[in-house]
Amino acid sequence: MTRTYLIKPVLDHHYPAITHGEGIYLYDSQGKQYIDGSSGAVTASIGHGVQEIIDAMAEQSKKVSFVYRSQFTTEAAEQLAKKISEIAPGNLNWSFFVNSGSEATETAMKIAIQYWQEKGMKTKSKIISRWMSYHGITMGALSMSGHIQRRERFELMLESYPSISAPYYYRDAGHRTITECDDFYAQQLEKEILRVGKDHIAAFIAEPMIGAAGGALTPSDEYFLKMKDVCDRYEILFIADEVMTGVGRTGKMFGMEHFNVIPDIMATGKGMSAGYTPIAAAVVSDKVMEPILNGSKIVMSGHTFSANPQSAATSLAVLNYIEKHNLVENSAVNGAYLKGKIRELAEESEIIGDVRGKGLFVGVEFVENKLTKKTFDRGLDIVNKIVEANFEEGLLVYPANAGEDGLTGDAIILAPPLTITKEEVDELVRKFAVALRNVE
Ligand code: PLP
Repeated sequence: MTRTYLIKPVLDHHYPAITHGEGIYLYDSQGKQYIDGSSGAVTASIGHGVQEIIDAMAEQSKKVSFVYRSQFTTEAAEQLAKKISEIAPGNLNWSFFVNSGSEATETAMKIAIQYWQEKGMKTKSKIISRWMSYHGITMGALSMSGHIQRRERFELMLESYPSISAPYYYRDAGHRTITECDDFYAQQLEKEILRVGKDHIAAFIAEPMIGAAGGALTPSDEYFLKMKDVCDRYEILFIADEVMTGVGRTGKMFGMEHFNVIPDIMATGKGMSAGYTPIAAAVVSDKVMEPILNGSKIVMSGHTFSANPQSAATSLAVLNYIEKHNLVENSAVNGAYLKGKIRELAEESEIIGDVRGKGLFVGVEFVENKLTKKTFDRGLDIVNKIVEANFEEGLLVYPANAGEDGLTGDAIILAPPLTITKEEVDELVRKFAVALRNVE
């Protein structure tokens, strides 16, 4: 192999070089075609090589590509913030732009803490999260996440925030009903608040549907209503981490819309620019902004590239494209079709234990025994095998873990671009079926 100067995720693994992409397909330098069945890391949600986005990027770069947010604002950033306030639920009207989902959740955390400080409650500084969660890789975001593999090297440096269980009905609901599970999760939140003291807790953070740490784990219709009720009773803000589920992925513009709960702060990223440029946002409600606007008037966070006009113009073009082509609806319709097809496969398959998710966010959990739900031996590395077998077939799928210990469940996520057609879903499912047979 020729010498490389690039640090890659696994240093002795071979990574084909992608030369170009078109629609849901990617092509490598050997001419092999791949269906981007997970939109990368659930990101490339309008597919590759979309001319309207390329034109918008060129247009903005002719005007200006960078100004510093502490000196100027730009039409691109202002318009993007306005657009987000229009598409976000409730009065989530204020956007703080950053460059990654990790920065978005971390900014959301900081703004939640600041909210209470501005109201004179300076001890409210802890965040309750669910152990089965992933909120990002930077230290603050990782402190709020339970993703074992990503935490273990840095455990000593992480803030020890209180954490509770996330809904995992496939394994939890066997010995009790879903309502009983939800009541248990809400009671756990309440107990944790009482244990730590409500005066020390700023916010509860949760993904509407759990991605990397759960494989599209989906709560019941009541779960978030119950959790939000506890938050309200104890004066705790609710942060929804929509970095993976936002912008049409689950068949609604934002994942929380399925559950009729409006967060106080929302983090979004990934699909917001569909990967055409790095941008993410902490989106803040009027309620949370009010004491800040009447108080210090400074949100003490930010990055050199925050509100970058080039990224803002690109993201705005992506959001307009999603609206113009009804991609949220396509996600709902073709997502239901995809989930149905995978459920048909599951009936034949010896190893598909659970198929879950909403819209084009479909999780598939694998088990050694479908009756007992026994997991595969760790040494088998089943998720990796499934990812590799799909790769061979020219289908990209996203690996996920599920379970309190980060190990008990083996899952993958199917999340193709929201532009996918019914015929393309059929092609994806055919490849998935072949890969599965090769593993079984
Ligand atoms: N939050 C969620 C729910 C995510 O899925 C991710 C990434 O997978 C992040 C935060 C972190 O985003 P990023 O990788 O852009 O920093």
